[in-house]
Amino acid sequence: MKKSIVKEMLLKLREETLRSIGENMKMEIGHLQEAISDIYDLADDERERQFSILLRDRDREKLEQIDDALERLEEGTYGICEECGQKISEGRLKIRPFARYCVPCKSKIEKNDQYLHRQEEGIRYRSMIRDTDNGEE
Ligand SMILES: [Zn+2]
Repeated sequence: MKKSIVKEMLLKLREETLRSIGENMKMEIGHLQEAISDIYDLADDERERQFSILLRDRDREKLEQIDDALERLEEGTYGICEECGQKISEGRLKIRPFARYCVPCKSKIEKNDQYLHRQEEGIRYRSMIRDTDNGEE
């Protein structure tokens, strides 16, 4: 894949992710206000740490991954598996342009994390069923 195409893909994804963060932010402010009273007594450093934990979510992680990928693109290490050093397949990069590992390494890593992963899948599956039920009414 051409560097310019990859860059365009990543920037578009970055924009979408930022928009999604903006939408979540409105919801988060409510949660933050509740949490502020709980952490008010903490020292400044600790308070800051607590805030960054509260603000961490999936989108923010994705944004970090996208920024990482853009950096790797500039450095010329984009598309190379961080685990084994092999090239990541184009098909995989098209689906996940910010992928850091090739498919075999990714599944190896995921196996270590299988319980958590399965739980996530279960939640996603249940919400999918709920959506389908609503659609049929
Ligand atoms: Zn690999």
